[in-house]
Amino acid sequence: MAHSNAVGRVRDKVALVTGAGSGIGRAAALRLAEEGAKVALVDLKADRVSEVKGRIEKAGGEALALEADISKAADIESAVRDAASRWGRLDIVFANAGINGVLTPIETMTPEEWSTTLDINLKGTFLTVKYAIPSLKEKGGSIIITSSINGNRVFSNFGMSAYSTSKAGQVAFMQMAALELAQFRIRVNAICPGAITTHIDQNTHREPELEAITIPVEFPKGDQPLERGPGKPDQVADLVLFLASDESNHITGTPIYIDGAESLLHG
Ligand code: NAD
Repeated sequence: MAHSNAVGRVRDKVALVTGAGSGIGRAAALRLAEEGAKVALVDLKADRVSEVKGRIEKAGGEALALEADISKAADIESAVRDAASRWGRLDIVFANAGINGVLTPIETMTPEEWSTTLDINLKGTFLTVKYAIPSLKEKGGSIIITSSINGNRVFSNFGMSAYSTSKAGQVAFMQMAALELAQFRIRVNAICPGAITTHIDQNTHREPELEAITIPVEFPKGDQPLERGPGKPDQVADLVLFLASDESNHITGTPIYIDGAESLLHG
């Protein structure tokens, strides 16, 4: 991994990545740094972001590790402020942190379980974007939101009613933001991954009651037609880099699926 401010597809840009300690966020942060960006790494887990910061610095890049809960306004507001003041600008925001949360029938889901998923995935996205706008407005920029195939093309993952609702909400919010922020040359897009190998299972709580509502949806030859297996965080990171860079400078208000055609089988 070579770093230089003289080369790279996002050279001299400043990026803020939420959920940067693991999975898709971690891979995107490393990729953006590799291509010349200075990266503010935001996560609930401080040990995770300090590991990522160490890797970026070892390769000659610059990074800032920030512990914050994206569902808490004060946390994310100060994280965005720290990032923008550290380097005097902000160009790229990857609003990515999220959880699967509790997977259970609607009838047994508690109001608190519903709120936890919506607060992190949807309100957390709103807060990340909201507090980044003042800095992004100065020179224009790119916001990328991690949504999902769930809630947009796929509705057959039982128990995911809260998760899918949050992911559909993110796409609606992305489109509202794209139009509202276009006059400031801020682009806003969403990525919709299919299954990607990450640590998201640590934030997934499957309740036994699910068995009672599950309609078996069977794909005897597998449901990942392109690669016959889940995608990798690095593949998603390449899409994030493209949306962050000037190569996508006419793309805004768009969800992009990255799932090897998985969602077309389920749709
Ligand atoms: P992951 O669990 O590997 O990484 C997510 C990171 O976000 C973790 O480090 C976690 O500590 C952090 N995080 C969780 N809640 C947070 C909070 N409130 N504030 C700050 N940080 C928080 O999972 P991932 O698969 O890389 O997930 C990233 C995004 O991708 C999520 O929005 C998820 O919904 C989405 N997604 C994942 C998949 C998949 O198959 N893995 C598919 C579609 C969409």
